[in-house]
Amino acid sequence: MHANIKLGTIHGIEIGLHYSWFIIASLIALSLGERFRQVNPGWGTSRIWIAALATAVLFFATLLLHELSHSLVAQARGLKVKAITLFALGGVSQIEDDATDAKTEFWVAIAGPLASLVIGFGCLAVAVSLGWQRSGEPRTAVTAVLVWLGYINVALAVFNMIPGFPLDGGRVFRAIVWAITKNVDRSTRIAAGVGQVVAFLFILDGLWKFFGGAGFNGLWIAFIGWFLMDAAKSSYAQVELAAAFRGMRVSEVMSHGCAIVNRGMSLQDFVDTCLLKTGERCFAVEDGGRLEGLITLRDVGAVPRDRWDKTTVREAMRPVEELHIITPDTQVLDALRLMAGNDINQLPVVSNGVLQGIVSRSHLMQLLQARSDLQSGAAHHAPLHRMRPKGVTP
Ligand SMILES: [Zn+2]
Repeated sequence: MHANIKLGTIHGIEIGLHYSWFIIASLIALSLGERFRQVNPGWGTSRIWIAALATAVLFFATLLLHELSHSLVAQARGLKVKAITLFALGGVSQIEDDATDAKTEFWVAIAGPLASLVIGFGCLAVAVSLGWQRSGEPRTAVTAVLVWLGYINVALAVFNMIPGFPLDGGRVFRAIVWAITKNVDRSTRIAAGVGQVVAFLFILDGLWKFFGGAGFNGLWIAFIGWFLMDAAKSSYAQVELAAAFRGMRVSEVMSHGCAIVNRGMSLQDFVDTCLLKTGERCFAVEDGGRLEGLITLRDVGAVPRDRWDKTTVREAMRPVEELHIITPDTQVLDALRLMAGNDINQLPVVSNGVLQGIVSRSHLMQLLQARSDLQSGAAHHAPLHRMRPKGVTP
């Protein structure tokens, strides 16, 4: 989730807004305006809309406080926080490192719902002190705003504590399982599994309500369930990835013998003789054994076709100074993070200026696939061995 609008930084954390947030903010303002008009017909148009807009903006502020609580606790426990982005379904804190212990995970996860709970009850308490009777509708614009903010923040805290990983409640649940089992991968697998069950129940409940006549509300619940399902599945996949490559060095997985092209070759010749004939996607350009740069399909595509015979490989390549370089000792997981964070597909592995090999995302995914095929194959065939009749030697 990338921010479209940057609002500034707090404590070194970039605060941003995704366009989808405006859709939800205007939906909130519109439906609140409608409600205020029905309950308090005497308010007048401007008061109704000012109150509705103020509520939408303040709701944004309380969401931000929820995310800031996660982020500041994470910072206090030594984790790096890059950014907070608010979008249609709430906010996300981009915490760069994973928690290294269950306690940190627990406090980072629970800080957000706790903040929402405190804000929620705080707003309700102020509304009561301003004369709001808990059994009735608020009579003034200020109490109406406070009451709505109070309820929505309490609801937010409760919703987020549903144990569906990667919701906050799921993370709290994972931290507890982690503390008990002392095994981070296992705890994430369990939490992501429970998360999928919770997501499935959401979808079922939403569809049930939809066909029962609840209309949009039912679809909305089903949509949240689908979103949670997706998130739980990708968390699961991430654990498999981390478990497979944890502790491995780049030298163990890189492909050696990267194809090398002549720096003076024209792009046209390069496309004809290298790209189209070998099926490789990435080539190294070297000068006297030292890596000068890389040239990929993407770099060729950046040069207009009619200039291919006048441009050399050297002119079109990405020079080594602009590349992210890793060494054979780099952890595979760090390499993957680097590729994902910069949206690149391969990294040159260099030692003392000399290219040793290439690590690519597609190659790592193939390794992972081969590994899981091997494992599921082994599990699948295991019972057959046990069924072999006695007395028959293999
Ligand atoms: Zn949260």
